Amino acid sequence: MKDIAEHSLDELNIDTNWFKPLFESTKMIHHFSNEQDLYIFLLDTVNRFQLDNTIIEVWTSEEGAANHPLIHKINYQQSPERISEVFSSGEISQTTIEHNLTEIVIPIKGDQGIYGVLLIHTSLDAEKLKVIFRLLCDEAGQGIEKIKLYSQSKRKIKELKMLNDFILRLNTSLRFTESLKLLKEHFIETYNAAEVGFFFKNKELSFELSNVSTSYFLTEDASFYNQFAEDHFKHSTASIFIGDVQAKLGLIQPSFQTVLLFPFLDGEELIGYTLLLHPNKYACRWEIFKNIETLIFHSSLVITNALLKEELEKMVMTDPLTHLYSRRYLNKKIEKSMREDNEGTFIIIDIDNFKEVNDQYGHQVGDNVLVQVGQHILQNIRKNDIGARWGGEELAIYLPRTALDAGLLVASRLVETVSNVTNPSITVSCGISYWKNDDHSSSYKNLFAWADQALYKAKSLGKNKIIVYGHE
Ligand code: GH3
Ligand code: MG
Ligand code: MG
Repeated sequence: MKDIAEHSLDELNIDTNWFKPLFESTKMIHHFSNEQDLYIFLLDTVNRFQLDNTIIEVWTSEEGAANHPLIHKINYQQSPERISEVFSSGEISQTTIEHNLTEIVIPIKGDQGIYGVLLIHTSLDAEKLKVIFRLLCDEAGQGIEKIKLYSQSKRKIKELKMLNDFILRLNTSLRFTESLKLLKEHFIETYNAAEVGFFFKNKELSFELSNVSTSYFLTEDASFYNQFAEDHFKHSTASIFIGDVQAKLGLIQPSFQTVLLFPFLDGEELIGYTLLLHPNKYACRWEIFKNIETLIFHSSLVITNALLKEELEKMVMTDPLTHLYSRRYLNKKIEKSMREDNEGTFIIIDIDNFKEVNDQYGHQVGDNVLVQVGQHILQNIRKNDIGARWGGEELAIYLPRTALDAGLLVASRLVETVSNVTNPSITVSCGISYWKNDDHSSSYKNLFAWADQALYKAKSLGKNKIIVYGHE
């Protein structure tokens, strides 16, 4: 059996009528944008040769390219053996099936792969057909490859655009938790993640689960994955892709087979990481893993800035000694409540004879007493109430949507019990003011002034007392 290289076209004495369709089709074959059309065109070209006693079919591995009676899908179990052989080896094959009938199988291949084969059953001169159709199949292979590269680059462009759109959206949300929520949604919707966990470094420098994460990470079942992530980031800042947890990490019947880990980096420093889980093995392509890595890389700066901003805000919002809210925050909350609610009660609490505590025990002990009173306040108010450090040794409570008697009850409880929870034991005096919608004189400045006047009265009446403004 001679190969094509051993014959020149002249030597084979090929019918010159064949050159026209061959020439035309090799030009045209590069203009298709999908495989199906290209294969149909290939079969049409073959028909133009008007070969007698010849059957020609295309066999291909392409999904969706088999919607034609002469185009078949290659299936390793069911396809004729020679077709599978040529499809995997890429070598042309020629076999005499019976007297006068030859089978030729020609691979349709490009530079990067084999995409199908052309099957020819003929009683004509096999050598001639082989030469002609090999040329045609080589062009078809190049054409298919172009289609593939084109659709690959289209997909890549689409993915890059999506990435870009997402980063832009992320950039407009400057808040840390909002940014994380956006990322979480994106991982679930775009990348099909079943569970998304975020871990960020806390003040003690250990990694803490963010409550934006899906709740799975709080369960006992998640501890294996959480520990794996923690251990990995102890000695590395690289991303990781595990497609088969059972095989790679030795966990028997794992709930999640695919694990993706990505770091959030601030320069070289690891500030946090995200853990994505999926129940199936290899639930994500390598390309997708790389895409997420790029996404995280670009998100890191936004996340770090948002995190810093949030920490800064917290610092402005809270008093560092007592961890009560700052006066600034309290003012803002009262203003808001006076716009939105119908009533509210304000209490100023001043430690009695605090100067003596400092003088007798020192400033440090005085500070501790302030912390104790702060704790006591927090234990006696509800979630929506605001306990704040008003000034030096003056603390305050604002109770939104709370009527005077309820506010008075809170203050009485505090005044009665504060001496039991402080060491050295102290007492406090309270001034209370109250506002409600139908009183037009109630502005937040008045509210403060009234409470202050009431407090002054409490002090002048002997301390360890509560005075309500207007009820002295
Ligand atoms: P009164 O019963 O009239 O409120 O007497 P007082 O001694 O508590 O009040 P005064 O206004 O005379 O003094 C307040 C003292 O509170 C003075 C200051 O040393 C102390 N103080 C204010 N801020 C702090 C603080 O942050 N830490 C400590 N340890 N002491 C503080
Ligand atoms: Mg004072
Ligand atoms: Mg005082």
